[in-house]
Amino acid sequence: MTLFSQLGGTISERISQIRQTVPDSVRLIAVTKQVSIAAMRQAYAAGIRDFGESRIQEAEAKQAQLQDLLDVTWHLIGHLQSNKAQRALEKFQWIHSIDTLKLAQRLNQFAAQASHRPKVLLQVKLLPDPNKYGWEVSDLLEDLLELNRCESLSIEGLMTILPQNLNPSESLEVFQQTKELASRIEQLNFAHIRMGQISMGMSGDYTSAVQAGATMIRLGRILFGDREA
Ligand SMILES: *Cc1c(COP(=O)(O)O)cnc(C)c1O
Repeated sequence: MTLFSQLGGTISERISQIRQTVPDSVRLIAVTKQVSIAAMRQAYAAGIRDFGESRIQEAEAKQAQLQDLLDVTWHLIGHLQSNKAQRALEKFQWIHSIDTLKLAQRLNQFAAQASHRPKVLLQVKLLPDPNKYGWEVSDLLEDLLELNRCESLSIEGLMTILPQNLNPSESLEVFQQTKELASRIEQLNFAHIRMGQISMGMSGDYTSAVQAGATMIRLGRILFGDREA
């Protein structure tokens, strides 16, 4: 028995069951790392228009095979090395994983010459977690002034990934703190930093994330089944 066995058997059934419990205003990003093209087409047929990928190379290969799906938005959700910033800019409309000032500045340089302004989120970790990328809160607050100068980026909000060992009430609390941090940053009124979007919640914890005010949830296993280890 899997963790998600209460859901229906097909991708399409799972998507419609989840859509029934999550408000329409929350964007459901199907995380498709290691997922087949056939399964991605099923998700598209069931209404998914947002795909999230962790690695640029894997995303490029899939984009080449899904060129006929014209209204898909691609989200980069995995760590981005600065030397791949330009490629990320070309291949993704949204980048959720901006995790250092240096990366933001690098992307900003390329974006200044590009035809579109990438929408980006600032990845933050509310709890210290050496195994995860992202700003700690105090460091992020210090970097805001410089981030505000990255005028070729559309900074739209925050992204977070929780440590794995939290219980549901702890998860809810950390998601609520993330939402509060976004409100706090919004009140600082930076001209080029918006905080309307919060990307948080994965298969195991998305209900708490939605409860705390997530505007984007990133679901993989609950839609497509467990990935190969
Ligand atoms: C893999 C991944 C997800 C999806 O996780 P699931 O547990 O499969 O839902 C979401 N966000 C990020 C950043 C990921 O790497």
